Amino acid sequence: MTKFLIFPCRLLKTAVTAAVITLLSLYGISQAARNQVEHRLEITLVPSEQKLIGRDLMRIEAGGLRELSFHLSNRARVKRILLNGEDRAVKFSNSEIILPVEVREHGRPVEVEIFYEAIFNDPVPVDPANVDNPGFGVTATITKQGVFLLSGAGWYPELKGSRATFRLAVKAPLNILAVTAGRSLGHKAIGETTVSEWLIEHPVEGLTLSAAAYEIHEQTAGDVIVSLYLFPESRPLAAAYMKAAADYVRFYSDLFGPYPFPKFAVVENFFPTGYGFPSYTLLGSSVLRLPFLIQTSLGHEIAHSWWGNGVYVDYDLGNWSEGLTTYVSDYLYKERESEAEAREYRLQAIRNYTMLAPPEADFPLSEFTGRVDPLSKAIGYDKGAMVFHMLRRAVGEQAFWTALRELYRSRVFLQTSWKDIQSIFETQSRMSLERFFDQWVFRKGAPQFYLENVRAFPGNGNWKIVAGLCQGPEQFNLNIDGLLECETSRTMHKIALSDDCTRLNLDCSSSPGRLALDPDFDLLRRLDPAEIPPAVNLLKSSPSALLVLPAGSANRLKTLAGTLALGLGLEEYRIVSEKDLEPELFSSRDIILIGMPMNEGLLPGMPAGMRLEKGGFTLGGRAYQNPSDAFFGVFRHPAREDRVVAVFHPLSMKDAGIVARKVTHYGKYSYVTFQGGENREKGFWPVESSPLIHEFATKKGAP
Ligand SMILES: [Zn+2]
Repeated sequence: MTKFLIFPCRLLKTAVTAAVITLLSLYGISQAARNQVEHRLEITLVPSEQKLIGRDLMRIEAGGLRELSFHLSNRARVKRILLNGEDRAVKFSNSEIILPVEVREHGRPVEVEIFYEAIFNDPVPVDPANVDNPGFGVTATITKQGVFLLSGAGWYPELKGSRATFRLAVKAPLNILAVTAGRSLGHKAIGETTVSEWLIEHPVEGLTLSAAAYEIHEQTAGDVIVSLYLFPESRPLAAAYMKAAADYVRFYSDLFGPYPFPKFAVVENFFPTGYGFPSYTLLGSSVLRLPFLIQTSLGHEIAHSWWGNGVYVDYDLGNWSEGLTTYVSDYLYKERESEAEAREYRLQAIRNYTMLAPPEADFPLSEFTGRVDPLSKAIGYDKGAMVFHMLRRAVGEQAFWTALRELYRSRVFLQTSWKDIQSIFETQSRMSLERFFDQWVFRKGAPQFYLENVRAFPGNGNWKIVAGLCQGPEQFNLNIDGLLECETSRTMHKIALSDDCTRLNLDCSSSPGRLALDPDFDLLRRLDPAEIPPAVNLLKSSPSALLVLPAGSANRLKTLAGTLALGLGLEEYRIVSEKDLEPELFSSRDIILIGMPMNEGLLPGMPAGMRLEKGGFTLGGRAYQNPSDAFFGVFRHPAREDRVVAVFHPLSMKDAGIVARKVTHYGKYSYVTFQGGENREKGFWPVESSPLIHEFATKKGAP
């Protein structure tokens, strides 16, 4: 889980990919019919003027195309274009260069040379309030602190629908090193400039470039070069990053097959991003320092070298790479820690899906293309990872890992769809997975199953247990574990459910204690409301939240409410004063109380050990009374099962704004406390009951 800043692949890259897809479909270019382009690209960076001067000599396998259409930023000025060495007049408007190709040039490669200049000056965000929805989307900026030119931003001429290789030379002021995909050919100081050269031999869909005053750290892991491009002040992080990156590269090479690129680099960015690109990851300075970065996010990015950047995603049938990458990184690391950690991860994934993808908003995994909001994250990442977990259980351990190796071996650098994955898993497992993929990938939703009429009858020397196992309203084909705990035994039963209901007949040789379905959370399902402790995430999917200010409060509190709403990404909300709060309004909305209300009757019921009062609060015996302390908690709504009441109780305005922005990062928790803007405690209210668990009330002893 990312907490403070979002991760690469998880964010802007998807937006850009979506843009590329739109372009492809707009121009009617199928993914299969991509043209090959070899770029010899020379770039001069002039940070003092935020300027780029470019010269791109392209060799293009144009086939029978009558015209070539290039994407180049509308911030660029085209100075000259040559086709096979001859000057051409061309049309350049709306970021598009159209270059007619004469008949005599058909059927053989053409050489196009474009000279251009551009100013790239996107404002750089320093402290974005909401990272779930990247409103700040920087695509191209050239500054004295650093340079960031994102693929798709049109910083070089890109033949539409092409995959391209590059020989790239970047000239920049002395000691400014440029870094990108592919293999480094070195960085040379020439007079007052530094020239960085790169060779990108594997065709890529788009190229991103970064440049800054980096220090390079380098070592090899097998045949792979692991590099760090860090600012001098990050030098103390180098050893840990180097070891972790090399370990991940080795781990996944053993698991899936050889790493597909010549190098892996960790590149520091001068503003807070987390991106995963082919063969490198670009992390903001503050992101690099996050404690969970090395343990999870870095591994996740490296796993994308196999899934997404290695085996490509065919977006027409949805993006499978986030679910798979999450499963073989974030989840697998937990499994390697302990089964208890893995179980907790699965439960959290199921909770996220239930809370963030309510039935009215849900969509099939095959329609997920990238993370743009909490809903798409819950489907693409949480549901996606659970689908791979269920697939592993369906086909078995050996077939699962063999199929992934085969998927990588046979599909690396090829557009690959869920259908291709299905076919490879079917071959390896020798079973039809038609129904599995149909219900989990191509259909939306998740099952809701439950126990009904559970009874125990004492018999001749043992107990007979009968129960109904039912599902609804949507029907799934399921194999459910049922754990029956009796006084002297524990047995796990495999139960198949494909209709509305099935009848269970089980035996206990001693008095029955408890029957629990799917006790280890191996199946994705929609949890019953009673199984979900209220959590911050429930607010994020709120259709209409009401932020309530205490009667007579100052304007500063209203500003604070606005900051909180923005941080939570609320789309539909209103800020009202407590005195204008009609009872009907209160009972129909998700409520967020900002500060202690004058009417304490508005406060929701509190779990044991939780107390709120003016000037302080107590949680589990710990009292908070300092002006910089703050509490945020989410509770059940007294009037509606599907709504919540949250309380934001900062003891003063000191650091309250910081907390208002941070709360969103604790989405899965029921409560969170802060001191001086830093998190102190976080946790869940206890779960009340589950329709999957039956506790028997039988007396102990012989029947
Ligand atoms: Zn990812």
